[in-house]
Amino acid sequence: MVMLLGKLFGTDGVRGVINVDLTAEFALRLGRAIGAFFGKGARVLVGRDVRAGGDVILGALVSGLLSEGVKVYNVGLVPTPALQYAVKSWSYDGGVMVTASHNPPEYNGVKVVGGDGIEVTREDEAVIEEYFFKGTVSRLEWRALVEPPEAASGVIEGYVDAILAQVDAESIARRNFKVVVDCANSVGALATPLLLRRLNVRTISINCHLDPLFPGREPEPRPDTLVDAASLVLAARADLGVGHDGDADRAIIIDDMGRVHWGDRSGSLLAAYASTKWRDLPRRVYTGVSSSVLVEEYLKPYGIEVVWTPVGSVTIARRMKSEGGAIAGFEENGGYMHVPHQYVRDGAMKLALFLDMMASYGVRSGELFSKLPEYYSVKTKVKASRDEALCAVELLKEHFSGYRMVTIDGVKVFGDNFWVLVRPSGTEPVIRIMGEAVTRELIERVVEEVKGVISRCLRGGLG
Ligand code: MG
Repeated sequence: MVMLLGKLFGTDGVRGVINVDLTAEFALRLGRAIGAFFGKGARVLVGRDVRAGGDVILGALVSGLLSEGVKVYNVGLVPTPALQYAVKSWSYDGGVMVTASHNPPEYNGVKVVGGDGIEVTREDEAVIEEYFFKGTVSRLEWRALVEPPEAASGVIEGYVDAILAQVDAESIARRNFKVVVDCANSVGALATPLLLRRLNVRTISINCHLDPLFPGREPEPRPDTLVDAASLVLAARADLGVGHDGDADRAIIIDDMGRVHWGDRSGSLLAAYASTKWRDLPRRVYTGVSSSVLVEEYLKPYGIEVVWTPVGSVTIARRMKSEGGAIAGFEENGGYMHVPHQYVRDGAMKLALFLDMMASYGVRSGELFSKLPEYYSVKTKVKASRDEALCAVELLKEHFSGYRMVTIDGVKVFGDNFWVLVRPSGTEPVIRIMGEAVTRELIERVVEEVKGVISRCLRGGLG
C-alpha cells in the first residue's frame, strides 16, 4: 500500500498486504475514523470475504466503530454485492466490507459503503481520511458504549431472492442448463451455487470450497486463471461457465466453446438485451476507457449511447446515478451493474441475467459471442514515473491529433481499424498500453509507434 500523507483510499477502497501495511492497529484507527464519519447511533452492516486476516481486520474495525457509538450488525462471510444490496434495501446507514477483491492472496482491504449501497464518494473518503490522520475521536462517555454488535441473518438469502426477481426464473428453469462455476475459493461460493439451484441449473463447481490460501487459482478471473474452468466447460459439455473474483462482484463468462470473454464483450451483449427488456431506462451505458470500442460498434444499432468514464467502478456507479440512470454500467474486468437491481457490480446478478438472455433467445452462449466484432488485442506496460507518464500522454495527444480522442483518463485514440489507450497506472509506477485492431500486424505496429513516442519522455529509455 502506498500510503501518501493524508491519503488512504485507492481506486477502490483501502488495500494492503495483511500484517505488513494493513495491521490490526491500522484497522482500529480506521474503524474509529469510519465510526466518526457515520456518527453515533448509525446502523452499520459489516462483513468480509475469505481472505487471511479477515477476522483480524474486521475485529479491529468493529472495535473502532463501537467506540464511536455506532450500532454494528455483523453478517460475517458474504459477497460484496450481497452486503451492498442489504445496506440499500434494509435501510442501514452504511456498510463496511473487508476485502481485497481480485488482488493476490496476501492482500486484504476495506471498502466503505454509503446508505445507498454504493461505495462512498471521494469527498466522503477525504472526510474519513481527515478523521484518521488528525486522530479525531469523540471520547463518548461510558453510557454510549452499551450496545453489543448483533449478528445479521438472512442477508444472502434476501440477496438471492432479489436477483431471482430480476429474471424470468421459470423460463430459465425449463432449460435445465448445465453451468460450471469457479468461485475463486471465496465468498462467491455462498451465493452463486444457491442461486443456480433455485434456477434448476445443473451446477458443476470448481474452487467453490472456502480457502484463504486460494489453492485453485489467483483471485482475479482472467483467461489465464480460468483455464481449468474452461476445460471443464468443454469436458462436461456445459452451456456456460463463470469465474468470480475474491468478493464475487465480478463475473467473467466462458462460453460453451470454452472461450473466456472479457467483461466488455459480455457486458455489451447483456446491455443490448437489457435494453429490450427494461424499455423505460435511459438508452445509455457507462463503461471505463479501458473497454473496447466494440462496445460502441455493437450498441449503436440498438440506439444506445456509450458514455466513456475514467477507469474505476465507483466513478461509473456515481456518475450513472447522478446523471439520471442508464441501462447498465460495466468494465472489461468483468464488473457489471444491472441498474434495476443495484448501482454496483454484481457477479451473481450478471450470471443470472446471462442465463435469462440465453433462455429468452434460445441460443447457445457461443453463438451470442460470435455476433460480436473480432479484434486482435494487445495489453502491455512500460515502467515510468508519474511525471514521465504524464509527459507521454501529452506527446501522444499531439502525435495523434486529427484522430477522435477521449482524454479523461490518459489518452484513448480511435482509428479507422484500431483503438489504443495509454494511461498512467493508478496503482503502480507504469504506463499501461492497451489496444485492439482488425489485424494482429496493425495493432502491433500501433503499439510500437506508441512506445516510440513514450520513449521520448523516459530518462532511462524503454526498459
Ligand atoms: Mg471485486
